[in-house]
Amino acid sequence: MMILVSNDDGIQSEGILALEEKLQRLGEVYTVAPDRVQSSMSHAITLHRPLRAKEIGPRRFAVDGTPTDCVKLALTGLLPSKPALVVSGINIGPNLGDDIIYSGTVSAAVEGTLLEVPSIAVSLVTLRNSPFEVAAEFAGTLAARVLEKGLPSGTLLNVNVPPLPAQEVKGWRLTRQGKRRYIEQVVERIDPRGRKYYWIGGDDLGFDKEDGTDCMAIHEGYISVTPLQVDMTNYRVFQEIKALMFPWP
Ligand code: MN
Repeated sequence: MMILVSNDDGIQSEGILALEEKLQRLGEVYTVAPDRVQSSMSHAITLHRPLRAKEIGPRRFAVDGTPTDCVKLALTGLLPSKPALVVSGINIGPNLGDDIIYSGTVSAAVEGTLLEVPSIAVSLVTLRNSPFEVAAEFAGTLAARVLEKGLPSGTLLNVNVPPLPAQEVKGWRLTRQGKRRYIEQVVERIDPRGRKYYWIGGDDLGFDKEDGTDCMAIHEGYISVTPLQVDMTNYRVFQEIKALMFPWP
C-alpha cells in the first residue's frame, strides 16, 4: 500500500518527518514536498517555468514548486502508481476557520481529492516546533481508518491538533469551519534605497465563540476534524440568489 506525504512548510520541516515516520507502519511512504517554505500558497500551481524534482533520499523528493505542484507531480508520474492516501502536514500552525482558504497544507489535500485519492490535512496549533507526537499519532490512527473505510468522493478531512501533552488532550470532535479574526494590517516602510515597501501583517484577534466549530474544539482542548468539500457551491442560498435574478437577454 502506497501513501503520499506532502506539506507546505518544506521537506526539511520537523512536522513532515514526524508524519512520515508514523505512516510508515501503514504502508510504503513516498514524500513529495516543496524544497522550501510555501505556506499561504493556497492552491497555486506553477505554469510559466519548469519544475524540478530532486531525489534527496529513498522515496523522498524535493520540488521547487508549490504544495499543489508537488501533489500533482506525484500523482501524475513521479510515483510508480496511484497511492491509496494523501496526507499533508504536519503543519506548524493552525489551519482553522478563515486560514483554510489561504492554506498550502489544506490545498495539498484538496489536490489529492481532485485527483480522486482520499486525502487528509494535519496541522498543529502552535507557532513553534512543539512536539509533534500527539498530532502524528492521531494522524496515523485516522489514516488507518480512512485506508480501511475510504472517504466520500470530493471530500477531504482537515485536522487540527491542540499543542497539549497527550494526557491533556480531551479527545476529538467532528467540527465545522469557524470564523477567525485578524487585525487586517499592512505595514508601510521605506527600504534602504528610499522606496516604499509593504508587508502584510495582522495580529490574531481570536475567533467567534460558536459551538461546533473547529476553533472552539481547539479552544476546549479537543482535536478538530472538519470534513471539507471541493464543490464550493452554496446550495443553501439558491432561493435567496434567485431573488437577485433578472430576465436576460
Ligand atoms: Mn505551513
